[in-house]
Amino acid sequence: QLNDSEATRRELHEKIQNLKGNIRVLCRVRPPVVNESDRSLCNINYVDEGTIELRNRENHKSEFIFDQVFPPEATQMELFEDMAGLVQSALDGYNVCVFAYGQTGSGKTYTMQGGQTDSTVGMFCNLYFSYKYSVDPLISMSSVTNGIIPRSMDLLFATINKLKKVGWEYTLQVSFLEIYNETIRDLLDNHPKHHEIRYNEGKGVTVTNLKIQPIASVEEFHELMETAWKYRAVASTNFNEHSSRSHAVTKIYINGVNSESGLVYRGSLNLIDLAGSESAKTSSDERLQETKNINRSLSALGTVILALSNKDNHIPFRNSKLTYLLQSSLAGNSKTMMVVNISPLDECYGETMNSLRFAFKVKGVNINARRNKTYISPTE
Ligand code: ADP
Ligand code: MG
Repeated sequence: QLNDSEATRRELHEKIQNLKGNIRVLCRVRPPVVNESDRSLCNINYVDEGTIELRNRENHKSEFIFDQVFPPEATQMELFEDMAGLVQSALDGYNVCVFAYGQTGSGKTYTMQGGQTDSTVGMFCNLYFSYKYSVDPLISMSSVTNGIIPRSMDLLFATINKLKKVGWEYTLQVSFLEIYNETIRDLLDNHPKHHEIRYNEGKGVTVTNLKIQPIASVEEFHELMETAWKYRAVASTNFNEHSSRSHAVTKIYINGVNSESGLVYRGSLNLIDLAGSESAKTSSDERLQETKNINRSLSALGTVILALSNKDNHIPFRNSKLTYLLQSSLAGNSKTMMVVNISPLDECYGETMNSLRFAFKVKGVNINARRNKTYISPTE
């Protein structure tokens, strides 16, 4: 019976995911990029698959333990292995949140979206990749540097096609929004509107006036994403600066119905490229206010995730737009993954330590049961 094996598969998947825990924190160190070849690098040691050790100039050592640590040479594909299970969970009715955290330039957008494939370096990587994995260079061209978002969409649609054969009919919808200075902007609507976050027991969190579009194929998704990103660029005077100071939230709404059993699954994938976590370096009042808002929302996020992993009774969702928006997706039937991106540059040591401390705090104490090791407190 197809449906029996389908049920067994789901049960097994659920068991594996539960063993992994509902909140996973990964750390990724990006490689130096082309114009950084002459900069000095941090002294980083990859102790084991989950342990990273940093030394400052005085050779003082700080060690941090995560669910997994990805060194600079880790590929997008390797990083995605961890994510693939979460895509399946979203199809099985879970709300999944994936965050890219880190200072500007640490690789958040690369992790979520991916890198450019039109550079000479990109071409070389692709050719090397196609040689190493014996795949058609033309196929690997577009995909080797693809990040979590495009890879999740490919896997979603591929899995939905498979599930059709066992009676599942899935429909997907998408919304793109950003939170800039505690204000929500719909990236699929070029007529700016006012948006409020509403909470309702039955429906959970909704955003007023938000465009939610159906998507029937990967191509349709990419078309909408392109529209959203163009609008984000057009609506800001300095795109790079703006994008590093806003949280970009891509949400996939997933609805599955089994025609035979009548079973219904409602899940979602929330993919979030967070604003840069760096501390303020500027004197302008406007910038300072922005930085305050960013820091407040990032620390609210940290507090919420920690409270959830501690199973606290009161979870302070309403302390920021970001956590309020994600309330239904973070609580209850949910799975969360945070990728903490860090730069390899020595000049970023201070921010890197801040990011690692934040991530370590978020992870809580109860997650890493599998590692039988004493922990040395990461203070300077
Ligand atoms: P952020 O979004 O955190 O500001 P980016 O994702 O834009 O940072 O990364 C900064 C630069 O580093 C970009 O040129 C990006 O392509 C490159 N980069 C980041 N991570 C990697 C990686 N893992 N491999 C190769 N290049 C990377
Ligand atoms: Mg970015």
